[in-house]
Amino acid sequence: MASLFETDIKNLKGVGNKTALLFENMNIKTIGDLIKFYPRSYDEWSEPVNPEEACIKKGSCIKIKITRKYLPIKLKEGKVLYKLLALSEDLKVIDIIFFNSKYLADKLKVGKKYLIKGNLSKRLDKYEIVAPKIKEPEDSLNIYPIYSPTRGITSGKIALLVKNALSLVRDSIYDSLPSEILNNYQLCSLACAYENIHFPKDKTFLKLARNRIIFEEFFLYHLSVKSIKGSAREKTNINISKDFSEEFYSFLPFKVTPAQRRVIRECMEDMSLSGLSMNRLLQGDVGSGKTVIASALAYSTAKNGYQAVLMAPTELLARQHYETLCGFLSCSDLNLELIHGSMKNREKKKAQENIAEGKSNIIVGTHALFSEKTLFKNLGLIVTDEQHRFGVKQRGKLVNKGNHPHVLVMSATPIPRSLALIMYGDLDVSILDQVLPGRQKIETHHIPTSKRLRMFSFLKELINSGGQIYIVCASIEEGQGNILDIEAYRKMLLSEGFSANLLEVLHGKMSPLEKQRAMQSFIEGSIKILLSTTVIEVGIDVPNANAIVIENAERFGISQLHQLRGRVGRGNKKSYCILVSDSCSKDSVRRFSAMVNSTDGFFLSEEDLKIRGPGDFFGSNQHGVPNISIPTTYEDISIIYKAQCSANEVIKSGKLMSDLKFKSVRDKLDSLKFSDAALGFETNKVVF
Ligand code: ADP
Ligand code: MG
Repeated sequence: MASLFETDIKNLKGVGNKTALLFENMNIKTIGDLIKFYPRSYDEWSEPVNPEEACIKKGSCIKIKITRKYLPIKLKEGKVLYKLLALSEDLKVIDIIFFNSKYLADKLKVGKKYLIKGNLSKRLDKYEIVAPKIKEPEDSLNIYPIYSPTRGITSGKIALLVKNALSLVRDSIYDSLPSEILNNYQLCSLACAYENIHFPKDKTFLKLARNRIIFEEFFLYHLSVKSIKGSAREKTNINISKDFSEEFYSFLPFKVTPAQRRVIRECMEDMSLSGLSMNRLLQGDVGSGKTVIASALAYSTAKNGYQAVLMAPTELLARQHYETLCGFLSCSDLNLELIHGSMKNREKKKAQENIAEGKSNIIVGTHALFSEKTLFKNLGLIVTDEQHRFGVKQRGKLVNKGNHPHVLVMSATPIPRSLALIMYGDLDVSILDQVLPGRQKIETHHIPTSKRLRMFSFLKELINSGGQIYIVCASIEEGQGNILDIEAYRKMLLSEGFSANLLEVLHGKMSPLEKQRAMQSFIEGSIKILLSTTVIEVGIDVPNANAIVIENAERFGISQLHQLRGRVGRGNKKSYCILVSDSCSKDSVRRFSAMVNSTDGFFLSEEDLKIRGPGDFFGSNQHGVPNISIPTTYEDISIIYKAQCSANEVIKSGKLMSDLKFKSVRDKLDSLKFSDAALGFETNKVVF
């Protein structure tokens, strides 16, 4: 099979140089790539409904009989109108109208039956449909694939070429999963899956095909995640036996909440006595006070004589954590170290020396922590903040620097409960589910751009009464369609009477120093508006900020909107979040209304899952593990769960490494490891 699958796409009937080039831009180079280019959606012709239902259920089809054809009418603008009369099965009259489509109008014969679908509307006692799609009822296929078209190749042409490709390889498709797995989980063969994912016989076969493909992708996903060192609890000698939490609490300017206490206790139990390294995920909503947890654990670790690391995804956040920790621990005898990429060489070297000699007890940093030159004396605990920003491989890398250190990953984007178990199968999970005292609900509004001026006067009032405001734009540069860019927005603010002295800009293309300056003046309160891109999304904590405006809000997913909103409502001022968008797409409207109606991150994540499907939650941020290529829906969770169970069984049984039947699974995993190297990550040891 391999060879046919790897045949250059140019050898496929119907693919010339031009098409090959277009395909190449879509990353389709071989016949196998084309077969794995799955449809984006399907055009369904099954189960015709009556016209009344078709008006409500968009996309459904109606069975009709043509009863009459009218003579074409020439319209003023030069268009020609073709009108036909039809009857539905329940004898409702339907006018079928085409403009200029003689071909289609001629195709329909009086007295014959057809299936039609399109935008049906009701007019008094009859129905009307303009330019419907038509199908003969005896056509065998009921479901047609729709591919994401690209300039120059239509979905129909792709379907035709996929058909050619399938007929070429059909008889030589070798199944990559052993039959025992196929049988245990009632999966169809790979050949059947390829056939039916593109040209489903019916809905049942489509489901079978999807199940099979989703299963395999998640099966590989789990195997490759498990193969990364540090993703399971391992034996360790690091024993954080004495609990210094109470001492730490006495340094804090506030009282820790019972939920914070509980989570810290759960972690301390993992880190002492067990003889196994902690491997825990902390799920907490935005602003639930996770930094305190990290700090308390780091404190106890350091007081037990080990080094603790707090890793943040951005320099801004690392610096903020460092300062918070310095504040908390100013009365203690511990040494704190900050390390990140844009430090001067001399400074960095000094920091690395301190770390290697064990002079630094608690180290806060960014990716620079992974650098070869950073070695630890006795690393005891690694806390990763905003873990979704890091790849699993990156986490593994730091773990390798210690001798089975304890690991806590903190996620600020709550993962739906139904997925957390699957995504982090072998992590223990702590949940921080208590709102901090004194927090008020953030009032959230969705407004169209036509109300922006009114919003500006509201913002001015907020500033006059001592507040501070974040404004988030989706883009830095101009010229991206209708997206407002930062510079244009800045000009608009100035022309609307906001003072330039009170305004700073912050975006990813600025140097770390410039970013730091902008952020600092916002923290100090000398500027009142921080106009930024999503760089502020992650973790920034400015309690005095009490409003956030998100422009082109349709560009963001729920979890991102919720993250952004979490930048406000951190002090005692009443806070606002304003989503500005004119989009009326179904998904955007759903997202906005979820945001307006709820501030509960866990609830929102479930909503997000329903809108986006589970596939999106995997892969994209997890460098080095397979991407999920097929759009998934909420209903796919059960097959994803089965894939995980199966992966676990296979690892436990030891068959993956020894059994010949798993050779092609091993090969696939190997090829994934190869792609890691391409991504620039060190290949980790496989520890099946
Ligand atoms: P997140 O969970 O989003 O990382 P942070 O750790 O940044 O939240 O905490 C948000 C803010 O709440 C910080 O200013 C922090 O000092 C404060 N905070 C944390 N715990 C408490 C508490 N128990 N009582 C009052 N304020 C707290
Ligand atoms: Mg945080």
